[in-house]
Amino acid sequence: MAKIVIIGGSFGGLTSAFELKRLLGGKHEVTLLSEEPRFVFIPSLPWVALGWKDPKKIVMDLREPLQSKGIQFRHESAQQIDPNGMTVTTSKDMLPYDYLIIATGSAYLFNAIPNLGPDQGHTHSLLTLDHALKAKEALARTLAADSGNIVLGNAQGASCLGPAYEMAMMVDTALRRKKKRSKFNISFVTNEPFLGHFGVGGMGRTRRAMEDEFYDRDISFHLNAEIAGITPKEIELKNGTKIGQDFAMIMPPFRGVDAVMNSQGIGNPKGFVPVDEHYKHKIYPNIYSVGVAMAIPPCNTPVPVGVPKTGDMTVQMARIAARSIASDITGQKSDPLPDIHVLCVADAGDTAMFMYGSPFQAPRNRALVKKGRWAHWAKVAFEHYFMYKIRRGMTYLP
Ligand SMILES: Cc1cc2nc3c(=O)[nH]c(=O)nc-3n(C[C@H](O)[C@H](O)[C@H](O)COP(=O)(O)OP(=O)(O)OC[C@H]3O[C@@H](n4cnc5c(N)ncnc54)[C@H](O)[C@@H]3O)c2cc1C
Repeated sequence: MAKIVIIGGSFGGLTSAFELKRLLGGKHEVTLLSEEPRFVFIPSLPWVALGWKDPKKIVMDLREPLQSKGIQFRHESAQQIDPNGMTVTTSKDMLPYDYLIIATGSAYLFNAIPNLGPDQGHTHSLLTLDHALKAKEALARTLAADSGNIVLGNAQGASCLGPAYEMAMMVDTALRRKKKRSKFNISFVTNEPFLGHFGVGGMGRTRRAMEDEFYDRDISFHLNAEIAGITPKEIELKNGTKIGQDFAMIMPPFRGVDAVMNSQGIGNPKGFVPVDEHYKHKIYPNIYSVGVAMAIPPCNTPVPVGVPKTGDMTVQMARIAARSIASDITGQKSDPLPDIHVLCVADAGDTAMFMYGSPFQAPRNRALVKKGRWAHWAKVAFEHYFMYKIRRGMTYLP
């Protein structure tokens, strides 16, 4: 009987666990450990910050769906991986494994810039439900005023770039609904060399689409931006530009989690895990990594921009890793490897931008950008569908 240990209880970890159990049945042991006992549908956090989403609707306890499929769940934090001894040391135990999947997401480098972040700084974030709830309170106060300055953006080195675009467009929509748009400045600050770059050099006409959208909404933007300093009232860029702020949401750069950083030979210097096209570790063939935890080399840009690993990409990676492990164990040949595509909807509250690229990096077979209210409703529906799939362990569905 093979023992498979999965670290992480989100898009990557849950999809890997359900897929492995489905492919291998009861003959092999699948254990998932997560330091969080619940799953949060992170893509809906911008709606939480706007006050448009009840957080209860996007949170689910992990134990029930996992145990109902025969997957062992441990609410523990992985602290160190020993790839030679094939063990994971956790906050409570030492777990042996035959195969390991690292789906731990990332740690957030708020200390990359003084005063960045909601805990010790003067900016907000949408990376966790707690951060989104804190942002919601502060944004509501700002939007209740007669006038103000709102800054949304991505710090130098950031890779999760889409949420700042969504927030900029949604804040614009919220202000128009309140009939106060002309009293507020909305500024967008980004490490990208052009709007719609998204860490992948753009996709089809994302540049033109995002530029049109920002001009139409009168959102001013600062490209190749490096933030030098943050005060409660101002964001200062390294080129000397000062932007007034009453509310700011700035995405920080990421690094790998401590469990990877503390384990020799597992991660690159930033703590992301180098893998091959099966998401298998480049040195240890029984270790896999999917989602935000794995390493993708960045594009060449004047200011560092990371490559985003979206939820949809993470699910595709997890399916490939699970199939590779299952075929290793059973000796059955696995299907040919599919290209990883990117499918993303950048919501604006009143409309949305649907973006698709296959493969996710250029040159591509297909790139498509479409805008419409239907895309907004598709994003709303997708949240319900994904929560349903996780509740039922049906991650094999498209
Ligand atoms: C605001 C926002 C909006 C987004 N919108 C979209 C969108 O519209 N579409 C889209 O496709 N993607 C979107 N994304 C990206 C998407 O959320 C990520 O791609 C996805 O969460 C990655 O999943 P993951 O499993 O790799 O990591 P994560 O979701 O980061 O999960 C990591 C898991 O590992 C656990 N963990 C971490 N360290 C340890 C440890 N040491 N021991 C045990 N457990 C550990 C955590 O508790 C967590 O369960 C968005 C992201 C953000 C922040």
